Formats: sequence, structure tokens, C-alpha cells
Amino acid sequence: MTLSIRWKVALGTLLAIALGLAVAGVLAFRSIEQLELARVEEALTARTGLAALTLEPFLAHPADPLRLQAVAHELARQASARVTVIDQVGRVLADSAVPDEAVAQIENHGSRPEVKLAFAAGRGTDVRRSDTTGQRTVYLALRVAPAGAKNPSVVRVGMPLTILEQRVYDLQRALAIALSVAFVVSVMVSFLIAGGLTRPLQDMATVARQLTKGAFGQRIQTVSHDEVGMLAKTFNQMADQLDRDFNARRRLEKVRKDFVANVSHELRTPLTSIKGYVEALLDGAKDNPAEAEQFLRIILKQSDRLNLILEDLLQLSQIESGQVQFRQEPVLLSTIAERTLASLKPLAEKKGHAVTVAIPAGLPLVTGDEERLVQVLTNLLDNAVKYTPERGTIQIAARAVDEAWLELSVTDTGIGIPNADRPRVFERFYRVDKARSRELGGTGLGLAIVKHIVERHGGQVWVEGNTPVGSRFVVRLPTASSIGHNEAVPNQSTSHQV
Ligand code: ADP
Repeated sequence: MTLSIRWKVALGTLLAIALGLAVAGVLAFRSIEQLELARVEEALTARTGLAALTLEPFLAHPADPLRLQAVAHELARQASARVTVIDQVGRVLADSAVPDEAVAQIENHGSRPEVKLAFAAGRGTDVRRSDTTGQRTVYLALRVAPAGAKNPSVVRVGMPLTILEQRVYDLQRALAIALSVAFVVSVMVSFLIAGGLTRPLQDMATVARQLTKGAFGQRIQTVSHDEVGMLAKTFNQMADQLDRDFNARRRLEKVRKDFVANVSHELRTPLTSIKGYVEALLDGAKDNPAEAEQFLRIILKQSDRLNLILEDLLQLSQIESGQVQFRQEPVLLSTIAERTLASLKPLAEKKGHAVTVAIPAGLPLVTGDEERLVQVLTNLLDNAVKYTPERGTIQIAARAVDEAWLELSVTDTGIGIPNADRPRVFERFYRVDKARSRELGGTGLGLAIVKHIVERHGGQVWVEGNTPVGSRFVVRLPTASSIGHNEAVPNQSTSHQV
């Protein structure tokens, strides 16, 4: 049989207490008896001394047995004890315990230990059951040698121990009751202590069992500050950690699933379209040259779109996986702006936008990958061109925030982004207006790529509203000289999963 810790602790404590109480009880029982005996002996000494003194004159001359017996009786009455007088050969001369006429028949007392001792040393004691009275008796015998007497005699006083035994019994009973109460109390206390000690352990076992079943919210309630309390606290911390890890895993899992679902959806749309037009062509549209050309153009456009999505996805997964190494070279923001503008200017001009660049000379350098930073600005400028109705104004600007930070921004007078959508536009495939984005050739991945590249450079990106209309995308990057010194990154970016 296996005992629980609670029982082990309780039984162990009880065993120790029971042993202690038993030893204490035995010692106390004994010392009570000895103490009482000592008190009786003390009283006996005084009474025997007085008896000896009183009897002495009656022993001087050849003793008158009747007088002696009368005095012995009187003394016995007054001392509440038995008085015996014994001569040197052990003959009993007087004894208060027997009638006068029976004194002569009392057996010889010469061999009684206390009598022998008294004759030899002047004084003797003994405790035993009396042959004459049948009671347990304590005896004290004193040798008396009256002047003028031929031989010494012994005066012996015996006190029955019935009173003493009663007293000892009473005391021992009181002690037994006290010890029993102490035992009962200690049973309760030891169970309480054992319970207090082991409850957190039981809780821990229960919670651990629930954790294994996936109930990560369970915690141990503990108030104690001892080792068990510390164990419970550590256990709770471990559960917290597990809870976090588990939640983080679940979130990641959800992000992954959503991503796969999104990708499938994004790819299916152009593919369905392509399939539809190919079928239409096979069904006869190919015989109508004008219709065939129109369908083929649509197929080409959808293929381009598929290509675009796949390119963006590839780029995103490369950056995310950390597979591609970013270059670490000094980069001028004005160069980034020039290169971007060179490729996008025709597109902007086609929509009649006025594009201005405001980058002050002498701005500090950024350390990073020029190609990737051009990609960032290209995506932002491309969006500004796309989401601004014809003849809008787009500004590319840069400024030094302080010694540590530079800001590059793209401001447009376009359709703007509602407040609630702003933090989310950096998520993969998140679009304020799906149809519009698609129509404009968007993949929903441009800003996600921007965010990844900027963060790999130790910076942040966010979007604000432009007044009166439009949006302002801000990229904050650490200056080359501050790399390694930047302790904290300004806390303006969003923490949404991209
Ligand atoms: P998309 O390929 O759809 O443009 P992005 O990741 O580049 O994907 O942008 C995500 C969404 O953010 C866009 O669909 C659009 O709704 C919004 N957005 C991005 N840039 C702008 C802008 N300059 N003005 C208005 N809305 C924008």
C-alpha cells in the first residue's frame, strides 16, 4: 500500500509525539510515586521519633506489657499509624494492630528488614505488604536504648499506603487525562500541519494533470512563503510560460493557415479567369479574330498578374525566412529617390501627377541594402500613383529626425486610408478595397514587403493621414553613425503580424 505524503507526515509526527508522551508519562508516573513516598517517609520520621521518645520511659525497667500496649494504642490513635515495639530477640512487646491478648501470639519480628537494620544501625525502613494487617505498608524502625535497660529495643511505626496509593492513583489519572488530551490535540495539529504542507502539493498534482490535458489556464492558489510555496510559484511561472508558448504557437499556426488560404484564393482568381477564356476560345471564339485577340489579351493580363503575385510571394518568403543576406553599405537617400523616380516617373506622368522631391543636401547616410531600399520606395511610390486620382500631387521627402534617425516619406493627395485600416495595411493580402486593388494590378503584398525590409534595417514604417486628403507613409531608418548605439526604436510602428 502506498501512503500519501499527507499520511506519511501526519503519522510520522504522531509517532514522534506518542513516543515523547509515553516516555514523559512513564517518568512522571514514577516520580509522582517517589515524591509521595518521600513525603510519607518524612511524616513517618517525625511520628516515629515522637513515638520512640514517648515509649522510651516504659522500656527502661522490665516492661509492663499492658502499659506498653496501652501507650502503643494511644500513640497509634494519635499518629494514625501502627505502632510496634520489638525487643532484641525479635519478640513483639506491643502492637497497636492486634488486641492486647493476642500480642503474645505475634510471630517473631527479628527478621523484618527494618527491624534488623534498626538494631544494626539505629534506623531502618522498608515498604511491603504486612503479614499481620495484609496492607501495603511503609515502616520506619528506630532503636531505643533507654538508660538503665539491659538491651535496646526497637520502636517501629508503620503507615498503610492506602492513602498514598489513592493519591498516586488520582495524580496518575489526572496525568493520564492530560496526556490523552495532549495526544488528541497533537493528532489534530499534526493532521492540520500535514494538510497545510501537502495541499499545495496535491493542487500541483491536480493542476499538472489538467495541464497535460491542455487546460493551460489552471494555476495553483498558494499563500505560503516556504519551500512548498516557492515550488508552487515556480510551477505557476512554468504554466504561464507554457500558456504563452502554446498561444504563440496557436497564433502562428493560424497565421500560417490564413496565409495558405489567402495565397490559394489569390492564385485561383486569375487562374479561373484564364481557364474560362481558354475554354471560350476552344468553344469557338478562336474563329472570331477580334474576339480571340480580346480574350488572349485578358489571358495575358491574368498571366502577368499570376506572375506578379508569385514574384512578390517569393520575395516576401525569402526576406521572411532570413535566407537572403542584406548588404551593409552606406546608402544616400537621394540616390534611392532618384533611382525610384527614374523607373516610376512615366507611370506618374501618365496619370498627370506632379511628383516633387524634397531631400536636403548633407543628410547623414543610412547603412543598408540599396536595392532593397529602392524596392521600399518603389512600392510606396507605386501605391501613391495607383491610389491617387489623376492630376494629384505626390511628394518624396527626407529629413533628419535627430542624430540617430532619418525619415523618408511619401505623401499623396489620393483616396486616403480609413483610420481603422491604417495599422492593418501592412498585413499580407490586406486591402482596403479588394476590387479596386485588383483592378489597379495590386497583389496586396507590397506593403508587407516594405515592412519586412524596413524592419530588417532596424527601422519602422507607418502610415498617417494627409490633410486635407491622401496618405503619408513614413519610413524611419537609423543613421549609419548610430548603428549599434540605438538602444530603443521609437514606438510608433504597429505590431500586427505581416
Ligand atoms: P496592393 O497591391 O493592394 O496595393 P499593398 O500592400 O501595397 O497592396 O497595399 C495594401 C492596401 O493598402 C491597398 O490595397 C490599399 O487599400 C492601401 N493603400 C496602400 N497605399 C495606399 C495609398 N497611397 N493610398 C490609399 N490606400 C493605399
